[in-house]
Amino acid sequence: MKKIIVSAFVILLILTNCSPAKKENKTKVAVTIFPLYDAAKNIAGDKIEVALVLPSGTSPHTFTLSPSDLKRVEGAKYVFYNGFGLDDWAAKISENLNAKLLNVSISLEEVCKSHNNNPHFWLNPDYFLKQCEAIKESFISMDPLNKQYYVENFQRYSESVKENALKMKEEAIRITNKNIITFHDAFPYFAEYFGLNIVGVFEESPGKLTTPKQIEEIEKVIEENNIKVVFKEPQEPAEIYKTIVADKNVKVLTLNPLGDGENIKSYNDLIKYNIEAILYGEGID
Ligand SMILES: [Zn+2]
Repeated sequence: MKKIIVSAFVILLILTNCSPAKKENKTKVAVTIFPLYDAAKNIAGDKIEVALVLPSGTSPHTFTLSPSDLKRVEGAKYVFYNGFGLDDWAAKISENLNAKLLNVSISLEEVCKSHNNNPHFWLNPDYFLKQCEAIKESFISMDPLNKQYYVENFQRYSESVKENALKMKEEAIRITNKNIITFHDAFPYFAEYFGLNIVGVFEESPGKLTTPKQIEEIEKVIEENNIKVVFKEPQEPAEIYKTIVADKNVKVLTLNPLGDGENIKSYNDLIKYNIEAILYGEGID
C-alpha cells in the first residue's frame, strides 16, 4: 500500500512538474502598444509569449504604469517599445522586471527628425513594416535556432499588411475632401501614406486644454477647407467639440490611432477602421 501511495505521489509530481515547466521555458516579451503587440504576436507564433502593456482606450502620452499593469507583464525578459517620447514608461517596466529594453523604431530616427519628432510611425504601413522587421530581428537574436520560423511568420505577416494597405490606398482615392482635422497629432504618417492632408489638430499637446483662441483658429480652418466632420479619439467624449459643433454644424466621428483588441482586433483592422471612418464621414459607403 505504501508503495502504491509513493508511486502515485511520484507520478503526480512528474505530472505537475511537466506542464508548467514547459510554459516557463518560453521567453516572455512585453510590448507597449497594440499595433506593435499585433506584429510581435504574429511573428512570435507559439515560440515566444507576448504580452501587451497599454490597456485598451488609454493614451500612451498620459499613461501611468500601475502595479496591475506590471503584474500582466510579469516574467518578461524584454520590453519592446516604440520610443521617441511616445512610451517612455517602458523604461520603468524594464527596471521593475529587470528586462532588456528594445526600441523597435531605431531605423526611423531620420524620419522622426524630419517630421517634427512625431513618434506615430506605425500609422504609415511602410514605417510599420520597418518596426516589424526590427521585431523579427530581435526574436532571431533571442532564439537563433528558430530563425526560419520567425522569418516565415514575418513574411506572411508583412504580406498581409502590404495587401491590406494597398487595398485601403485604393479606397482612400474615393475620399473627396482630403483635408482632415484630428484630435491629437497622431495622423501625419497615416495622411502621408494615404494621400490625406492634416489641416488642423484639436489638442496641440497631450492632456493640454484647447484655448478659446485655438478653437477660433480651428473654426477658421473648417471654413476655409469646407470641412464637414471633425475627428475625436475613442477615449474622448464627443462633447469636447461642442463649441465647434454649435458654431459650424460639423459631425463628430472617431479615428483610432492605436486599436483596442476588441473592435479593432489587428493592425489591418486599425488601418481599415480609420479609412472607413473618413469615408463614412463623407457619406460614402
Ligand atoms: Zn499620440
